[in-house]
Amino acid sequence: MNAVAENLKKVRKRIERAARKTGRQLSDIELVVVTKNVPVNMIKQAIAAGVNTIGENKAQELLDKYDQIGDEVDWHFVGHLQRNKVKNIIGLVSLIQSLDSLRLAEEIETQAAKIGKVQHVLVEVNIGEEASKFGLAPADLIGFITDVSKRFKFIRIKGLMSMAPLFEDPEEVRPLFTTMKSLFEQSKTLDLTGVEMDILSMGMSNDFEVAIEEGATMVRIGTAIFQKSDIRD
Ligand SMILES: *Cc1c(COP(=O)(O)O)cnc(C)c1O
Repeated sequence: MNAVAENLKKVRKRIERAARKTGRQLSDIELVVVTKNVPVNMIKQAIAAGVNTIGENKAQELLDKYDQIGDEVDWHFVGHLQRNKVKNIIGLVSLIQSLDSLRLAEEIETQAAKIGKVQHVLVEVNIGEEASKFGLAPADLIGFITDVSKRFKFIRIKGLMSMAPLFEDPEEVRPLFTTMKSLFEQSKTLDLTGVEMDILSMGMSNDFEVAIEEGATMVRIGTAIFQKSDIRD
């Protein structure tokens, strides 16, 4: 088994263990494998090991890799999306995880309408309220979702995404994941057109177990799968 397949097996085991703690199983947690800076041959190893959803955070890198890999996997956009790049990726991605402004929503609407597609998105929440990160402030979230629902017909909000601050000890982010979970539950009660809140995307290599324990339905993992050494159990 190659290192990527080996790492994936371990990550899946860890996901399963965390899921069980909340009465769920491996198949209840969607794994998005984040492949930024990862060469295509290693991505193909991941696909051969059963990965079916890939996340990229730069439009050009996604386009280059899509050319070589195609649509045998689902592609998600997970990074800050510049408006002038929307037209390039809109036909390729099944989910934009990083809707972070009304201006971006306007552009997604325009480009999705052009190709007759309803674009699925997650709303990004800046849960740590960090200046260095994009996303809605928690206090603005409900108003934002309501606006998007009212104004746009070619956007379907499928859930929330967040990137927690990086801490040495993942236990320190647990309260932020708990807050995300309650924002998610609150958004679910909105009953708005074009809003189907079923995805809570949180948890990366350093904190995905805690995220799952606090209710994540989707995790986005890169480093733990593609690192060359230090394969953790
Ligand atoms: C890079 C990235 C990830 C994966 O992070 P790792 O620490 O490598 O697992 C997840 N989400 C986003 C938005 C990213 O940019």
